Amino acid sequence: MIVVSACLAGLKVRYNGSHRLDQRIEELVQEGKAVTVCPELLGGFSTPRPPAEIIGGDGHDVLQGVASVVDEHGTDVTEMYVKGAKATLEQIQALEATAVVLKEYSPSCAAG
Ligand code: SF4
Repeated sequence: MIVVSACLAGLKVRYNGSHRLDQRIEELVQEGKAVTVCPELLGGFSTPRPPAEIIGGDGHDVLQGVASVVDEHGTDVTEMYVKGAKATLEQIQALEATAVVLKEYSPSCAAG
């Protein structure tokens, strides 16, 4: 099974309620070869939500507790991002995924 970013499959889960449809990814889901995940929704966020960025490092640094994730209002949302990352990893492991396709330039999906 392949795990893909939900927004790449056309689901409107991005912070601003949009998607980033990639036709090939959508086809994989429709054919039952891939399942979608959205780490931010798994972390407890809803759509729409304020955009956020990693401050002081990359995704690895966030997981190690030496960088943080802050939204555009200055709210530290690190805990929810870490929760989403862990939940995503659990899903990937539970599905015994053979491949993972995540979106670039996202503080959640492109963690690193
Ligand atoms: S967390 Fe990942 S799947 Fe969810 S909207 Fe952002 S890039 Fe897409």
